[in-house]
Order: sequence, then structure tokens, then C-alpha cells
Amino acid sequence: MAKLLRGFRDLFEEEAAKLTEVEKAARKIFKIYGAKELRLPTLELKEIFIKATGQTTDIVQKEMYAFEDGGGRLVAMRPEGTPGVARAYIENNFQANPLQKFFYIGNMFRAERPQAGRYREFEQIGLEYIGNAAPAADAEVILMLKEIFEKLGVKNYKVKINSIGCKECRPKFRQDLIEFFSSQKDNLCEKCQTRLEVNPLRVLDCKIDGPKFTNAPRQTLCPTCQKHFDEVKKYLDGKVPFEVDPCLVRGLDYYTKTVFEFQADINGAQNALAAGGRYDDLISSMGGPKVPAVGWALGAERVAQAAAFEEIKKESIFVVSVEESANNYAFDILQNLRKKGLTADGGLFDKNLKAQMKQANRANANFAIIVGGNEVAKNTVILKNLISGEQKEIALAELFTAFEVK
Ligand code: AMP
Repeated sequence: MAKLLRGFRDLFEEEAAKLTEVEKAARKIFKIYGAKELRLPTLELKEIFIKATGQTTDIVQKEMYAFEDGGGRLVAMRPEGTPGVARAYIENNFQANPLQKFFYIGNMFRAERPQAGRYREFEQIGLEYIGNAAPAADAEVILMLKEIFEKLGVKNYKVKINSIGCKECRPKFRQDLIEFFSSQKDNLCEKCQTRLEVNPLRVLDCKIDGPKFTNAPRQTLCPTCQKHFDEVKKYLDGKVPFEVDPCLVRGLDYYTKTVFEFQADINGAQNALAAGGRYDDLISSMGGPKVPAVGWALGAERVAQAAAFEEIKKESIFVVSVEESANNYAFDILQNLRKKGLTADGGLFDKNLKAQMKQANRANANFAIIVGGNEVAKNTVILKNLISGEQKEIALAELFTAFEVK
């Protein structure tokens, strides 16, 4: 049966155009910051995501579209971009030039419970700044995101940041959380009861339990992480309003030090527009060199929804022929309009005038050009403004001056 899968969507003209606008804005900012495009495969070995995204994450445990391919390999449709970027970085030996700024644009797949703003296939635009351990890199990537939002007219969003420490200081925090939440186990939601042992940080950002436990232990950063975090904040001061949220943690295992999220009040619960952080240990943990990295991904659909697009103005022309003897004349006009870069359509010359005009209206054309034997003889056209209804006969030579090519 011809039926769309749950959580998947067909995007027609307007929605597709909005995503293109988000991509365009992001590309402009990427260019200014010297980020290079990396087009990644949709399918990767499943183990890449197990290793990078983390065995204990919801994404890996239950949301991956994973299967055995014809060759007996366990593969998965990518649920996020960072593991693929890390894999590509490792495989292509960037040791000689370890500092790299990559961006990617592509669809991701997660078998989550669909709801408004949450789909099973969605577009992410991501940025990964690899090779710079300095706090300036964290600030830079956050500011890039802010600039993209600015370009798109996204307003009323909040930037939340936090530091979740490193291999030195996180284990103690983790242990403190396990102890604290174990004593409250009966008060935890079902999901958090199972999360508790494997990923206790996630309890803090659980929509149900997070707000309940305002007295949960807080992270004490080691001096190195504290200094790093203080410097990031200093770089951001006065450039983007942000809040430090000690309960902000990330769903993925690979983050270290800085984490951040851009949130807006759309779609009720689905308020994360973009998220990211530093992941200094990821590339080495996947068998690569020891290089630090920081990055983010934005959800293109959610950002498109929060953006304020100017109405995309278009001028389109529909060419109508009312007599067979004028068909060639009309067809040439149609092709010449297109050659000039104008949006033109028509060519339904086997239909009568009424049917052709009906289609011109359906296609939302602004103008119709109507020709018959008379116009061919005089080398003219009838130009009809479909909005005002006004029409006049003009010389063919004048036709192109009547339209400004933008
Ligand atoms: P994450 O990779 O989970 O940190 O997500 C980064 C961004 O992608 C989020 O802030 C959302 O804007 C977007 N996103 C994540 N999951 C979905 C989804 N299922 N549907 C639509 N957008 C999503």
C-alpha cells in the first residue's frame, strides 16, 4: 500500500524552501569561519555508533535503524553526524594538519516516538572544530551558531551552557549522583530507574525527574576544567547572552568539559534547537590520534520553524497559446523567458484557453502571456497581469524589458 511510514515526512515546496534557507544561512557563516564541507555516508558500521555515541544512550539502545546487510555486516543508518566525522578524520590521516573545521548537512534517523518537532528522519546541520583545545574554540563555535540564528531572524532563544568536567573530575560527580539518586530510587520515573546505574547524569536533564531534584549534587570541576570553563564564559561575555545551567548534561557519552544548548519555546517540550559541546577524548577512543574537538548540531526543521522568513517573492509567467499556428511562437517565448532566468511555465497547448488560464491561476503565476495567430502576425503578445486582471498588447521586443531579472 502506498503509505508513508510513521515519523517520516514528505516535504513540499514551502517546507523544503525553508530548509534550504536554513542551509544557506549556515553555509554563509561556515564560509566566513573557514569551515569545509564534509559529505558523509548515511550508512556506517553499527559499531561506530556503539563506540562513539555510547552503549548506554537511548539512541544506541533503542533508536537506531540497524540491520545486517547482504554481506553479513551489522550496519546502521546514522542517528547523528559526529561519529562519522570522527571516523572520516581518523581514516584520512589528518595528523600532518590536525586542525580542521568541518561542517555537514544531512538527514539523521532515530526511531523515537514521533511528536511535533520530533521525527524519525530529520535534518541536522553540524559543525566540528577539531584540533583546538583552547577555550576560544568553544566560544567560537557557540558564536557561529548565534550568528546563524541571527541571520535567520530566530528570536527569543536561550543559550545554556555548563561544564561536565573530564576523566579526572567526572567520575566523582557520577558517583555522587548514583548515591544521591539511589536513596531516592522510588521517586524516580521508570526510565531514570534504569538510567541510574549506567548514565546517572541523564537523570538531571530528565523532563520528569530533573525539576524534582533541585537539591541533587553539583559537579565540582577540577582546576583545569574550572579554568577552561571560566575562560569560555569570559570570551562569550557581552557577545551572546547565556545562562549557566548546572543541570545541563548531554545525552551522548562522548562529551567533556563544555556543553551547551540553544533552546526556544516552540512545540512545547521539543525546545532544543541546537546542541553541542567539547569531546576531547572521542577521536582517540575510536582508535585515532589524541586530538581535542568541539562541535554542535542544529535541527534544521526546528530552526526553520523558529526562524522569521521574509516572504519569498517570486515572479512567474505562464505562457498560453490559443491557436495551433501560434504554438511554435509560444514555445520559443517560453524557452526565451527561461533563458533570461525568469520563472516561466506553460506549454499546455493541446488545451483550450480556459483550461490553460485555469492552470496559470492554479500555479500561482503573476502574469500570463497569451498568443494566437494575430499576435504571431504582428510579432506581439498579450500580457495579462493575473493579480490585477489588467491586460495589454505589447511588442515581442518589449517583453523582456517588462520583467526585471532579479
Ligand atoms: P542531538 O544530536 O540529540 O544533540 O540533537 C541536536 C539537534 O537536532 C536538537 O537540538 C534538535 O534540534 C535536533 N533533533 C534531534 N532529534 C530530533 C528529532 N527526532 N526530530 C527533529 N529534530 C531533532
